[in-house]
Amino acid sequence: MQTPPLKQQAWAAIHEHEGELRSLALRIKEHPETGYQEEQASTWQADYLAQHGFQVTKPFGGLPTAYSACQTAGAGPTIAFLAEYDALPGIGHGCGHNLIAGSCVGAGIGVAAVLAQTGGRVCVMGTPAEEFDNQKEGKVRLLEAGAFEGVDVCLSMHPHTDNQVIASDVGFIGFDLVFHGRTAHAAADPWNGANALDGLILTYNNINALRQHVKPDVRIHGVVTDGGRVPNIIPERAAGRFMVRSRDPKVLEDVYARVQDCARAAALATATQVEINHITTVYNTRINPTLNRLICENFAQLGEPLNEKPLDMGGSTDFGNVSQVIPSAFFVSKTHPAGIAWHSVEVAQGAGEEMALRSMIASACVLAGVAIDLLSDPELLVQVREDFAKANG
Ligand SMILES: [Zn+2]
Ligand SMILES: [Zn+2]
Repeated sequence: MQTPPLKQQAWAAIHEHEGELRSLALRIKEHPETGYQEEQASTWQADYLAQHGFQVTKPFGGLPTAYSACQTAGAGPTIAFLAEYDALPGIGHGCGHNLIAGSCVGAGIGVAAVLAQTGGRVCVMGTPAEEFDNQKEGKVRLLEAGAFEGVDVCLSMHPHTDNQVIASDVGFIGFDLVFHGRTAHAAADPWNGANALDGLILTYNNINALRQHVKPDVRIHGVVTDGGRVPNIIPERAAGRFMVRSRDPKVLEDVYARVQDCARAAALATATQVEINHITTVYNTRINPTLNRLICENFAQLGEPLNEKPLDMGGSTDFGNVSQVIPSAFFVSKTHPAGIAWHSVEVAQGAGEEMALRSMIASACVLAGVAIDLLSDPELLVQVREDFAKANG
């Protein structure tokens, strides 16, 4: 397939900066920072982009570790690459987000090299805290702050074991359950107590009974965050953090309602009270066929192999929330060997190896290629918007 000259120019710019992009990704990998703590990672990216002519806003959208870095060349659409760079607690870059940062920064550098010819605006947006912990994710907060206003299309990539576009992913609701009981001596007068831990354990067991009756794509998983203090006091407080997931937003809401019933039933059975604290809702990614087609074409133009089968992703991403508001697409990139367990130290180690870094650069080229297509052909943006309007999420 013949490569248009603008892309050749952009890809040459990416390769010219390849050494710096690799060392940026390696530095982020070697200094893992968890959600909203990514001070070094965000500063390194923002500084690097500022040195390459981007206008940087940091903090961005009210978040100290978010940034926006843009270049403008006259009228035209705005294409944003959404970088991620948060690590997992205790594991490091076990989701490979250092490679998303390198790809998106690289794509920005590539598009900037041809922007005077295409017109329009290119932005790299640093979006912190993608991984769910105990708070709303970075893109959810940035959306609430109106940080994506004026952006026409958002693009990104995610590390994986193959090059593929996305067919579907999974939305989730994250929430805390807090049981309140009454203390008593666990041996002398337990009849005066109400056991909050029993409330939590019964909830867990009620959920296990529910599992048989949910669709195969549903996932319900949780951890105990407070199980009481000492065994000779009936616990007056117990708490857990849970996630419910589904590919179908309607099913997601239904299962969340059932899980809340599991908790209320457990509270009734144990004469305790339960507080249900919703933390976040992450939506499914709204698939955009035109953007997916452009991603495939750019893999072909680049001469990179692509698994033709779009991926039904098992995980969730706050990119989904952005995709519900702005036409967006991300793809997965073959950064790691097949069969590897994700969110693991093996992924973190692999995120610094040749296979990962090479794919990161190829991904930067694909992202830049799609952006150049959109900046140079207004008709494509019309199609992208039509797809967006047609998709029902
Ligand atoms: Zn992850
Ligand atoms: Zn991830």
